[in-house]
Amino acid sequence: MVELLREKGPLTRADLARLSGLSRSMVSTIVGELISEGLAVEGDEASGRRHQVGRPGVLVSLNPEAGVVVGVDVGHRRVLVAVANLSHEVLAEVGRDLPLDHGPSTTLDLVAELVREVLEEAGVRWGSVVGVGVGLPAPFEAGTGRIHPSSLAPSWGEVRPVEELRRRLRLPVYVENDANLAALAELVWGAGRGSRDAACVVVSDGIGAGLIVDGRLYRGAMGTAGEIGHTVMDEYGPICRCGNRGCLEMLAGVPAVLELLRPSRGPDLTVGRMLRLAAEGDAACRRAIEDAGRLIGIAVANLCNLFNPERVIINGELSGAGEVLLGPLRASLGRCALPVAATAEVVPGQLGARATVLGGVALVLRETDSFVAPPRGGKPKGVTERTTKGEANR
Ligand SMILES: [Zn+2]
Repeated sequence: MVELLREKGPLTRADLARLSGLSRSMVSTIVGELISEGLAVEGDEASGRRHQVGRPGVLVSLNPEAGVVVGVDVGHRRVLVAVANLSHEVLAEVGRDLPLDHGPSTTLDLVAELVREVLEEAGVRWGSVVGVGVGLPAPFEAGTGRIHPSSLAPSWGEVRPVEELRRRLRLPVYVENDANLAALAELVWGAGRGSRDAACVVVSDGIGAGLIVDGRLYRGAMGTAGEIGHTVMDEYGPICRCGNRGCLEMLAGVPAVLELLRPSRGPDLTVGRMLRLAAEGDAACRRAIEDAGRLIGIAVANLCNLFNPERVIINGELSGAGEVLLGPLRASLGRCALPVAATAEVVPGQLGARATVLGGVALVLRETDSFVAPPRGGKPKGVTERTTKGEANR
């Protein structure tokens, strides 16, 4: 019920019954409980629905005052923080560049500072925060609460980001890798809406994918599902941060593409400038991006053979190149995947640089479903269980 209201906005009880498949009396009971819990409100905005026969339905919506959710995107170079209400309306956003030699402790301090800042800017009380969803640019082991040891700078290996942030913020904290969050956000608000099986490939400094299988995020046994950037493309290629050689991200990640272009396009070439030059028709920039697209397409073809998604969403900095990247990527997919698997639609993401931070918001809203949404026909759980669930933090 709550999920429907989140997804579709204000609805009448009749709409809720039709969409949920529950009886009208059951819907009325659940809505009544949600309203008494303060999680839903009734509005008198039914005027726009007069086409309905009989008494115009009163619209039910989630109570925007029932709480707020904070999303955090810890990137390689920048931290973004957003606060949204339970109706998914973003109330404020702040961002700051990370210092060049940032370590885990200074980064987490900055996150805490920005959370304070964003709540202040939105004029929101600390106590109304339901949870904080954080995206990190590395696979996160939900079981151990740590960043996957082999993936980032060794300094992050021993850090437990959930505990560290909970200590700093005294709020329920949920951590997930950035590509998974981007996938979640695209599924809820962006290019993935309406799909049951989708992959969201994020092409930035690293390359990662978030996999949506049967409408849910697929994490795998250890949380490393979707690490498409470490597909070996050239066994004797350059050594990757993971310790392997010739991984996709060493050949098609943003730093690799820039490196190819710097001898001819200048040592200070940035992603933004490269994308502008490519859009203006610069042959070298287009070629470098096209080749990255071809390589990524091979890995995406393997992914499509394994998971058979209906849609592949391309996100991240390099997706700013649009068709220059996507065209060759589609061609590789067509050439390398089984014909049926290759029918996956390849589309650009719609949320751009905000995908991960919005995914943080979506993560908390999903993770907290168990206390916000009453079980079918059952009694909604009380507000006091919020913290319990947050502390459990699976
Ligand atoms: Zn690697």
